[in-house]
Amino acid sequence: MTLALYNTLTRRVEPFAPLAPPRVTLYTCGPTVWNYAHIGNFRTFLFEDLLRRYLAYAGYDVFHIMNLTDVDDRTIKAAAAAGKRLDEHTAPFVQAFFEDRDYLRITPAHAYPRATQSVPGMVRLVERLLERGVAYKGEDGSIYFAIAKFPTYGRLSRLDARELKVGARVASDEYAKDDPRDFALWKKAEPVDEQVGAAWDAPFGRGRPGWHLECSAMSLEQIGTCCRSETLDLHAGGVDLIFPHHEDEIAQSEAATGKPFARFWLHGEFLNVRGTKMSKRFGNFLTARDLRDQGVDAAAVRLLFWQTHYRKALDFSDEALAAAGTGVKRLGEFYARLGAGERGKGEGALSTLAAKFEVDFRAALDDDLNAPRACAALFEFVHEGNAALDAAAPGAAPALGVLGRAMAVLDVLPTAKTVDTELEHWIAGRIAARDKARKSKDFTEADRIRAELTARGVEIEDSPAGTKWRLV
Ligand code: AMP
Ligand code: ZN
Repeated sequence: MTLALYNTLTRRVEPFAPLAPPRVTLYTCGPTVWNYAHIGNFRTFLFEDLLRRYLAYAGYDVFHIMNLTDVDDRTIKAAAAAGKRLDEHTAPFVQAFFEDRDYLRITPAHAYPRATQSVPGMVRLVERLLERGVAYKGEDGSIYFAIAKFPTYGRLSRLDARELKVGARVASDEYAKDDPRDFALWKKAEPVDEQVGAAWDAPFGRGRPGWHLECSAMSLEQIGTCCRSETLDLHAGGVDLIFPHHEDEIAQSEAATGKPFARFWLHGEFLNVRGTKMSKRFGNFLTARDLRDQGVDAAAVRLLFWQTHYRKALDFSDEALAAAGTGVKRLGEFYARLGAGERGKGEGALSTLAAKFEVDFRAALDDDLNAPRACAALFEFVHEGNAALDAAAPGAAPALGVLGRAMAVLDVLPTAKTVDTELEHWIAGRIAARDKARKSKDFTEADRIRAELTARGVEIEDSPAGTKWRLV
């Protein structure tokens, strides 16, 4: 079996192969840092984490780019409302995003280009589009993309031209554009932009980039540098980005380069609350830090999300999260039992179960990242593995290896408990008593204390600097 992915461009599940194996270029639209990201946003970022990790598991060398949208309508509005400059307003949210990413165990991207730091590339892209005659200056001084000059516009979202036209007319009562369907590449600087420091000089007029332009420019710049390419292997985001964001990214990039922009387009479905999309606008949101403050283990959030396929909507509830927490606990117990099981005994019932699990796990994820099926296989393995452990079956070591490889993808083992101070005091006391015993050459007593520590999950190691300990 090889990895197959659902490509929004073709509306089919297709075998995946990168342009220049083993390298895979992956671009994912990042957060708009006007505020804290909510766990709906993180459902999309977690689906992308699953994709990224499974590609690595499958042996690919992934180069992952995630942009940070730190200038757009929302960031400017929020900075102005807070009476701050743009960078002053966004900096804490960028920081918070990285903290939340780490809490949720999302593998960091290789590059996090920020829109405000990538303006020269955006200006060059607009110049290229102007030179090619697919962009023009509107009567309002902004630069627009001429959709009529790009015949394949709408291919990704499959909206026909007539539909687009009607939709756009409703939303637009201005006559600055040649065609109401056209979208802004570069917006002429307004007083509020100047006020927050969101305006840049450009040969075609002072202004600021449109959101769609940002992603085209940053992705092309990054893959140009890393891989001397103008085509991404994979581009991903939430389903709400298909139109117009990704459609416009394709138009801008392909009109400039003449090459396909991305070969596979992947889109994750929404996280909902009682059937409604989780959104800042609807007020029905939770942030990652809310969960962290409630003491929720990130492993439970991850497992909850994996239990629904990324192309299906998922309804968030406390009950579902608690159930995922129970699953995580069961898995942790099984892992600990395997670890405590005899090692080095080689093959046995447990390794047979593990090998079967690994086959099922791969088949599930190869099939358009079917994580719910992979999780079902995982818990079947836990169930049968526990029964095998009850019967003292051998093969714990290879089973641990298989589980470890699966966890490199799913990463749903419980977070190691933080040590409470009471335990810390007790450990310090036992270590001091052991030192005393060793100094008076009472090794029986020293060994007894070590066993006492081991029984409570404390592993010690003697070094010239003293005795170090850690929880296992
Ligand atoms: P934004 O910060 O608004 O630019 O969005 C960041 C990402 O979150 C985009 O890929 C969106 O498609 C995605 N997103 C927004 N709301 C949700 C939701 N309720 N469920 C899943 N993904 C979402
Ligand atoms: Zn984007």
